[in-house]
Amino acid sequence: MKVWTIANQKGGVGKTTTTVALAGLLSDLGHKVLVIDLDPHGSLTSYFGYDLDSLSLSTFQIFQDTDDFTSEFIQSLTVNTSMPGLSLLPTTPALATIERKMSGKDGMGLRLTKALNKIDEIYDYVLLDCPPILGVLMINALVACNRIIIPVQTEYLALKGLDRMNRTLSMIRKARPKPINVTIVPTLFDRRTQASLSSLNILRKKYSDSLWGSVIPVDTKLRDSSIKGKVPSQFDPDSRATRSYRKLLNYIIDLEKHVEEQLLA
Ligand code: ADP
Ligand code: MG
Repeated sequence: MKVWTIANQKGGVGKTTTTVALAGLLSDLGHKVLVIDLDPHGSLTSYFGYDLDSLSLSTFQIFQDTDDFTSEFIQSLTVNTSMPGLSLLPTTPALATIERKMSGKDGMGLRLTKALNKIDEIYDYVLLDCPPILGVLMINALVACNRIIIPVQTEYLALKGLDRMNRTLSMIRKARPKPINVTIVPTLFDRRTQASLSSLNILRKKYSDSLWGSVIPVDTKLRDSSIKGKVPSQFDPDSRATRSYRKLLNYIIDLEKHVEEQLLA
């Protein structure tokens, strides 16, 4: 099972959209996929038509009293989506209280890792959609994954957010035994604007090591697919955004093959 975290300490940069788009494309390929909503605002949960206030089981349960999880328990927290082969572990607004109640408690950073260990045989891919705040929830995701995907909106302020995110990653790298693979993904790219073009240039200069060479363009079809509760490739398999996300997925799959080959060598 591969675990990918989609994170950035800034909101509105395309984290949830990237999670849904990649998860949908992985399901299209026949993989068994789980998306986990770690954001108490619940955009991912709402995306698939679930009402945050009426869910009784959610990500919240993973951060409750005990970490003595079973595979059946973690499975019981998941729900179906419009996409066959794609399950969702939804969130509730109560998840926001975890930051206050749990930070500093022993072992809190490893809750999600322990939960995911129990479902290792059930899914091929797990994608973690993070809140834009550095706290217990994001730390859990950064520790539990083998790849971090950082969507960055191609505009100036978002680049500052990326610098902040990079400082966080340096901190995590020191605390983690496994190396972290990072992929930076330029999003909401509008080639008609100077802001998009020049911020892409800055990204290329500053982050050439981890930057994906292409971009996700602005595409209104993404909003339309979210209104319908469908993953972008189900809504329109040939839209500009779907084609770009497919290109991104192929790139990441190639990177992972490369990492595996290096481990075997
Ligand atoms: P985040 O999870 O980082 O807060 P979202 O994925 O929710 O960001 O995106 C914020 C808003 O921007 C949403 O309304 C989404 O539909 C829209 N959006 C995201 N990516 C694109 C894109 N490439 N083109 C057009 N709209 C987009
Ligand atoms: Mg989001």
